[in-house]
Amino acid sequence: MRYHIHTYGCQMNVRDSEAVAALLEAAGHERAACEADAQLVLVNSCTVRDMAERKAVGKCGNLIAAKEGRGRRAEGSSVRIVGLMGCAVKRLGQDVFKALPHLDFAVGPRRFGAIPHLVERCLAGETRILELPDDDEVPAGLDAHPDASRGGASFQSHVTVLLGCDNRCSYCIVPDVRGHEYSRPAREIVAEVRALALRGVKEVCLLGQSVLRYGMRTKAWTDADAPSPGGFTEPFPRLLEALSAIDGLMRIRFTSAHPKGCTDELLRAYRELPKVCRHLHLPVQSGSDRLLAEMGRRYTRAEYLDAVRRLRGFDPEFSVTTDVIVGYPGETEEDFEATRSLMDEAGFDNAFIFKYSPRPGTRSAELPDDVPAAEKERRDQVLLADQEVRGQSRNERLVGTVREVLAEGPSIRNAARWSGRDSGNRIVVFAPPPGISPGDAVRVRITDAHPQVLVGEVDCMEALKE
Ligand code: SAH
Ligand code: SF4
Repeated sequence: MRYHIHTYGCQMNVRDSEAVAALLEAAGHERAACEADAQLVLVNSCTVRDMAERKAVGKCGNLIAAKEGRGRRAEGSSVRIVGLMGCAVKRLGQDVFKALPHLDFAVGPRRFGAIPHLVERCLAGETRILELPDDDEVPAGLDAHPDASRGGASFQSHVTVLLGCDNRCSYCIVPDVRGHEYSRPAREIVAEVRALALRGVKEVCLLGQSVLRYGMRTKAWTDADAPSPGGFTEPFPRLLEALSAIDGLMRIRFTSAHPKGCTDELLRAYRELPKVCRHLHLPVQSGSDRLLAEMGRRYTRAEYLDAVRRLRGFDPEFSVTTDVIVGYPGETEEDFEATRSLMDEAGFDNAFIFKYSPRPGTRSAELPDDVPAAEKERRDQVLLADQEVRGQSRNERLVGTVREVLAEGPSIRNAARWSGRDSGNRIVVFAPPPGISPGDAVRVRITDAHPQVLVGEVDCMEALKE
């Protein structure tokens, strides 16, 4: 069948969708040219905020209407099977069929390996099939990647290294839907990245909810594994070292991080392993010690800022990005101002601001959601405006420097220019030299800065240092 996957949410969902695409292709299905042309449509859902879940469920509702010949998109629609996958399925359980009575199948995280079989069952006439994982399930098909020969692969790839989360921050539904923390064996990850590098992948992004906890709960290295040549003893820096040794791979990124993971060994890995990108996504959530304690974040404002100072200590251009929640229950003007001042002190290169959304079953959902919607919106806008100014001044410091950029392709705003990213994950726009291809490494001299984008001219084309 011709399939299409519509993905909401985080990079981990993007990765899960890639793996499901590869599994479907291995089962003989083919990627549709567009959603309207697909016979099988999967919606990969997010439930981290209420609005995210509503979007995914609403999208499924529209697809089912089109399948049944109703709704705006009914005409010309070839859809025969509609499936919902991911975090919202685990949260809703059987209730998914109350929201979507005619859904063909629903499958929670860590069970995606079952999808090709579920499609077979639907083709044989079954409907309303629900597959929910156990919290400790070790999924199949994690290393599945779309086949490069079918145009499904690029020079960048995500690799999931840590599943689930055991942190239980007060506001967060992720541990309920993605299950317990589990580190994939290092050998399996190294083999996967080696295979990707052979297919031309130059940059990998290692994924985990709290990725620096890799190898802490489940032992990721066996006694038979070789000792670390660099003498790294902590599991995550050791993984970075093992991946750095893979030929052809140029860059290693990872996300998301917790300040407790910013150990001396991690800093040493940044210093000694040139393939490891000088960027860390370090969600802070709040600058108020009172709220950080209520959220169960397990660090104080001072500890957080200390981690940032240490990262910038050996490289002032080290890029630090973050997530912030505004309007958490009981967030006063004083708490909010503490977040504003923390953001200034940390000098974030980029920040994602989220308006608090109570999630059923989480600890903070027991508290009154007492910051009015209009006030959440105001705080959101204030932080975004602050970040524009901060992003501009952080980027202006880079004018005149030369950035090593992996070219991605024509820029979205102006197809005559190309864009790519530097080691700090900053978007860099430049006039493409003749013959350039996606994945080429270029050195770009920065001539102009904007809050979210650097503009420059290509110095010369050369491969990045291996
Ligand atoms: N594991 C990551 C975060 C994953 S969720 C970490 O801890 O770093 C991504 C972001 O969504 C979080 O950083 C947080 O800012 C936001 N978020 C999570 N739950 C939320 C909620 N209930 N309301 C609003 N934002 C939320
Ligand atoms: Fe959610 Fe906290 Fe786990 Fe991140 S660390 S996924 S915010 S519980």
